[in-house]
Amino acid sequence: MRKRVLSGMRPTGKLHLGNYMGALYNWVRLQHEYECYFFIADWHALTTDYSDVSKLPENTREVALDFLAAGLDPEKCVLFVQSAVKQHAELHLLFSMITPLGWLERVPSYKDQQEQLKEKDLATYGFLGYPLLQSADILIYQPDFVPVGQDQVAHVELTREVARRFNQFYPKRLTAEFNVGVLPAVDIPILPEPKVLLTPSPKLPGTDGRKMSKSYGNTVLLSDPEPIVRQKLKPMVTDPARVRRSDPGNPEVCPVFDLHKVFSSAETQAKAREGCTTAGIGCIECKSWVADAIVAELAPIQERRHHYESNPSVVKEILHAGNLRAMARAEQTMLEVRSAMGLAPA
Ligand code: ATP
Ligand code: MG
Repeated sequence: MRKRVLSGMRPTGKLHLGNYMGALYNWVRLQHEYECYFFIADWHALTTDYSDVSKLPENTREVALDFLAAGLDPEKCVLFVQSAVKQHAELHLLFSMITPLGWLERVPSYKDQQEQLKEKDLATYGFLGYPLLQSADILIYQPDFVPVGQDQVAHVELTREVARRFNQFYPKRLTAEFNVGVLPAVDIPILPEPKVLLTPSPKLPGTDGRKMSKSYGNTVLLSDPEPIVRQKLKPMVTDPARVRRSDPGNPEVCPVFDLHKVFSSAETQAKAREGCTTAGIGCIECKSWVADAIVAELAPIQERRHHYESNPSVVKEILHAGNLRAMARAEQTMLEVRSAMGLAPA
């Protein structure tokens, strides 16, 4: 049996280089080897963007386009929309019964996001609970691996704790009926603990030096045309100590150099390092080199995007078929969960 993989992205805007290098390009590789489920987390978009939902349908379509543009193949993986699979909500509710509040209050993103997104009122029940919804999103597919960026590691850790607690309370007992009465009954976990899979660039910086994030307005999008990529990178923050063109810079503290490490060839990186540390080149030139590499990386992605953009009914059909497959798999887990928790079968 192939091992299983699950991950998702929020439709809070079009996808960016951070989503791609932190997770999506890994998903594209994994689909060839594993049974993969990838979803658009529209309920999660509501946890921060509940007061204005006007963009949600469009963003959901755009993320689907980005998934397909990046190379996810509906023949090789299941692509679906979270809100179409109501079982996620059911498992979230059941998890809420067994999860101590303190576990959610101490998730680092709870305080951090409230700090970063000050303009939004995130003192809501849904926002506190979103990592638990995420635990349900994950565990309902009983996956072995969850390929995500660095910011999600704490959430997968919580997911593992929730699984452990669930399995302690509600073990699946293999009785004599199964082991021919020779051995005592054994308990096996219904919800195995999944592991995180990180890429080499799990936290790509945005143009302001913070984590590149759809919500921070610091992104380079997978769908940005070349002039926009260059325009966005031009004012990107650099080594703050390099004030004048004649000052030598330190690539190790420069977010632009972080992008070089991910996108540029070894020669370009060496040239940029040498030019920066000797003040032989200015930051503008250095940024134009990284822009060249990014534009080249995006070209095949954008070509695939154009194909799907001109065939919207194909995209709709892909999601519809994926929703049905995801629902069938999620229901399989829920049958076990309901029975273990003493609930009537649906
Ligand atoms: P939002 O600001 O709305 O939360 P986001 O840009 O953080 O959007 P998510 O949908 O929350 O994107 O995350 C999708 C996936 O992309 C997750 O696995 C996350 O860890 C990863 N990811 C997001 N930003 C980055 C980044 N800058 N570098 C690496 N991975 C990232
Ligand atoms: Mg995020």
